[in-house]
Amino acid sequence: DRLNDDALADLPGRVQRPAYDRTKVRTGIVHLGVGAFHRAHQAVYTDDVMATDPHWGILAASLRSPDTYDALQPQDGLYTLSVRSQEGEALRVIGSIQRVIVAPRETDDLLEAMSDPHTRIVTLTVTEKGYCHDPATGALNEAHPDIVHDLAYPMNPKSAPGFIVEALRRRRMSGVPPFTVLTCDNLPSNGRTVKRVLTRFAELVDPELGRFVNDEVSCPSTMVDRIVPATSDQDRERIGGVLGVADAWPVVTEPFTQWVIEDRFPQGRPAWEAAGAEFVDDVEPYEHMKLRLLNGSHSTLAYLGYLAGYETVADTMADEAFVRLIRDLMDEEVTPTLHMPPGADLTSYKSALIERFKNPALKHRTWQIAMDGSQKLPQRLLGTIRDRLSSGAPIGRLSLGVAAWMRYVTGIDEKGGAIEVRDPMAARLREVADGAGPSAENLARGLFAIREIFGDDLPADSRFTGEVVAHLARLYELGAKHTVSTFKAG
Ligand code: NAD
Repeated sequence: DRLNDDALADLPGRVQRPAYDRTKVRTGIVHLGVGAFHRAHQAVYTDDVMATDPHWGILAASLRSPDTYDALQPQDGLYTLSVRSQEGEALRVIGSIQRVIVAPRETDDLLEAMSDPHTRIVTLTVTEKGYCHDPATGALNEAHPDIVHDLAYPMNPKSAPGFIVEALRRRRMSGVPPFTVLTCDNLPSNGRTVKRVLTRFAELVDPELGRFVNDEVSCPSTMVDRIVPATSDQDRERIGGVLGVADAWPVVTEPFTQWVIEDRFPQGRPAWEAAGAEFVDDVEPYEHMKLRLLNGSHSTLAYLGYLAGYETVADTMADEAFVRLIRDLMDEEVTPTLHMPPGADLTSYKSALIERFKNPALKHRTWQIAMDGSQKLPQRLLGTIRDRLSSGAPIGRLSLGVAAWMRYVTGIDEKGGAIEVRDPMAARLREVADGAGPSAENLARGLFAIREIFGDDLPADSRFTGEVVAHLARLYELGAKHTVSTFKAG
């Protein structure tokens, strides 16, 4: 038997379920990119407010694979949220997703839903690469194959910017005010970045539409924080065992959750603050804090940890040398670059981060975090490095993180085995690595030349390049575990 509306009444008492009548829910939000993160974060906040306001049901679209549709549609959109810590596991069935759509085969349905006047917000978690932008500058990558396609066939889009701009065009034509675009991806100044990408795309379709998007569409920035590893088959089995019915795709997360949002929703919004979201005027300080402390540490742990042979972040954090490295990275090299509003407590945020990374109940694979490094490095490490370089401050640990990424993208691990490098630039990275051979200097030089990642300034800074090359040579010579355990700040 499967989890679905009919099964709700018979679930065991310890499983929390929707506290509202699902038949009364109206769609108010279209979400693009219905992955694990959305289902453990925004969909949960929305499920919380649904009890008092049923106007914010979610129609969730996958722009690529039908996998989530196949799992959730037979379940009436229901799935289980598992919150895991050392104290145990809490289960809750989430009901805020009303329908799942597979965009490539239901393009018109999706565009229609996005153009519907009742849809007042379009949220996104399409991963960093889903914005089809140049990660170093944040500008639309006009040569991106999906963008080339969507500009040629704007009414039959494939990309997230393509869908949003076409829906905005339709709304404008029929006099429906634009929806608010709410990105929940880990991009720097994510609202501003998505606005720049959308405006440029619209301008290329039609300059008038470009002006409209620029002047009329609100894209608040957000800071999103909750660690949500990919679901494993063990999770499915364990959770199905408790429910007494099968759930094809539960999501597993940690107790911690945070959502900071700029309050600019001309068409209204759910009272997400009732579920714990924070509305502020300017998200940027929080976003920097999170991208640089959490994500910067995460990527550093992922590359070094993977190379050292650790499967998960928790395994890596069981090694005291890695804990020390990450603590010092945060305290010595990242914290001085942050400008927090009065009252923000960085000390407890950082201590909590260390504990969250150590959570042994979350099996967050180093390999998963290592994915898409070309899209992640700029906002996670390189921005911090730029700030440090400009004030003449040390970058020993930050540059070790960059060197570990370089060692990782060679695609060959420390034992000579293959690494499955997932990255939109994988082919190019591979080519550089093959051409460089086992020379740290050649490899680094080849990778520095990728401007979409490093820009023009960093490759020209000899302090930066020198430190990265020195770390890379040590990683080749000593391996990651030994490099970390003998690390000394220069
Ligand atoms: P996931 O792999 O479960 O889902 C990714 C989703 O993005 C899928 O729906 C996929 O179809 C879609 N996607 C991938 N490439 C795309 C493209 N080129 N165009 C359009 N859609 C595309 O991953 P997730 O855990 O849901 O994470 C998604 C994003 O959420 C992350 O990249 C990050 O920006 C943000 N986020 C995740 C976490 C986390 O812990 N998982 C935490 C904070 C923020």
